[in-house]
Amino acid sequence: MEETLLKLVDKSKKEISAASTIATLNSIFLNIFGQSGTLMKITKELKHLSEEEKPKIGALINRYKKELENAIKKKKARIIEQETKVDIDVTIPGIRPPLGHLHLVTQAILQISRIFEKIGFTRVRYPEIDWEWYSFESLNMTKDSPARDDFETFFIEADPHPKFGKMVLSPHTSSGQVREMERVGSPPIRMINIAKCYRPNWDISHTPMFHQFEGLVIDKSINITHLKGTFDYFARVFFGPKRKIRLRPFHFQFTEPSFEVDITCGVCDGKGCKLCKEGWLELGGSGMVHPNVLKAGKIDPNIYTGYAFGWGIERTYMMKEGLKIEDLRLLYSNDTRFLDQF
Ligand SMILES: [Zn+2]
Repeated sequence: MEETLLKLVDKSKKEISAASTIATLNSIFLNIFGQSGTLMKITKELKHLSEEEKPKIGALINRYKKELENAIKKKKARIIEQETKVDIDVTIPGIRPPLGHLHLVTQAILQISRIFEKIGFTRVRYPEIDWEWYSFESLNMTKDSPARDDFETFFIEADPHPKFGKMVLSPHTSSGQVREMERVGSPPIRMINIAKCYRPNWDISHTPMFHQFEGLVIDKSINITHLKGTFDYFARVFFGPKRKIRLRPFHFQFTEPSFEVDITCGVCDGKGCKLCKEGWLELGGSGMVHPNVLKAGKIDPNIYTGYAFGWGIERTYMMKEGLKIEDLRLLYSNDTRFLDQF
């Protein structure tokens, strides 16, 4: 009996040491310790032994039982250790996480602010939800101005202000003109107001939210040459030394005289191409501040004069890059394949 036991233990130990998977070890365990396992069979034979032999063989069985259990346990631990072991080569370069960058509109806002700050403009921001009075009346726009239709401006459903009228989503940065006059009190004023604007348009060249930058300069003896000089400076720094600007007479209610500002096309240098057609691209509106607007801001138009301009950030940035984006809505579609290019 003792000999059978010894042979069984030897055989089992060899099997355990040869096993290479947890599954094999599990089945070896069952073959030994299971209901009809080899060790159980021998235990059942104990009753046929003499009273002298019983305790001796019983103790032996217990000893081998522990030995085999330990052997299986140790082997399992070794297999798990090998399976989870990862070789680390510290000399291999690390994996760089993808780095983002500022959105191109934010980049443009920072560049434009810096350019105007260098010539003494102060960057400000005014409410993007404002009263009709700041958006229209204070800017010399009458009640019947087409800009005040609900297909041109978002109106907020709220009780109107007794003096300032209905609430609107600011349709242009010009709403900040009289607010700046109120803030500063008396000139000089050199404001650059950059903010989001809202109009109910949604097509390939319009998004309902867009950005404008608005310049306003008020002081004694300000005239058109100051306006022209500022635009020349901006065009040189922002677009490059070769670009030229021109003023084209136009009509706005809040400026008199008013101009559209054009810049030579950067793609063809003003010769005419597919992007610009005739060599010029339109930057946006400008003009000398209308006396009624100065009065709305409690500034005496007999003492002070000023000029103002309000241009689209998205549009100005596209012109700098010489880009013609087929669909402006791409800017806000969060497609990184597009945004990564800037
Ligand atoms: Zn061109």
